[in-house]
Amino acid sequence: MEKINIAIDGPASSGKSTVAKILAKNFRYIYTDTGAMYRSVTYLAIQHQVAFEDEERLVSLIERYPITFEQSEEGQLVFVDGTDVTAAIRQPEVTNNVSTVAAHSKVRQQLVRQQQKIAENGGVVMDGRDIGTAVLPNAKVKIFLVASVIERAERRFKENQEKGIETDFDTLKAEIEQRDYLDSHREVSPLKQAEDAVRIDTTGKSITEVVARITEVVQEKTGGV
Ligand code: C5P
Repeated sequence: MEKINIAIDGPASSGKSTVAKILAKNFRYIYTDTGAMYRSVTYLAIQHQVAFEDEERLVSLIERYPITFEQSEEGQLVFVDGTDVTAAIRQPEVTNNVSTVAAHSKVRQQLVRQQQKIAENGGVVMDGRDIGTAVLPNAKVKIFLVASVIERAERRFKENQEKGIETDFDTLKAEIEQRDYLDSHREVSPLKQAEDAVRIDTTGKSITEVVARITEVVQEKTGGV
């Protein structure tokens, strides 16, 4: 059976990673969380006291400390230079600065190259902001997920509670809006729906419904995977 690539883009907390993981499991594809890569660079900057504006030094960090993924029973783990950073890259200090790091064109060039390499043989479900527009412009299936900001803030609030991260709902909502604004208004590869992407509004929809809709799109595009 042909192994295609599936690109899933959308704003913060629109449900991308949740559905991407399920689709990858169902199709036996590799899941790649590109947000985790930008988060890892932000984490490295904090650890090495590199300013989020210092593009050259950020690029040196990427060259020096490889970012890798590993599958485990609890899900996908993220490593930076062999250290497990899966939980650390979800901390508010990373979340609130990642958009500044991700706006640098040289940082994006480095990470996009790695993402394209991961997907070169197909069989990948990749989620992010620019997968359908810049990373995998030829992906056979492109999905753009959206949801109301209130629902996205509620999802993130619940997720944080489960992870034991203390957050105030209104602050969280403001942070999501701020991150969406920065991601949509940056010069390089802003968050934007690809012309050939299928837009799905996940507000009020269950994960199962969204997965079913995307599976239909995959089947329509491939004649069954
Ligand atoms: O998906 P997640 O919320 O973890 O992404 C964190 C941040 O990484 C985004 O807010 C965005 O600034 C950046 N990002 C990006 N391009 C991608 C994936 C994420 O710029 N493909």
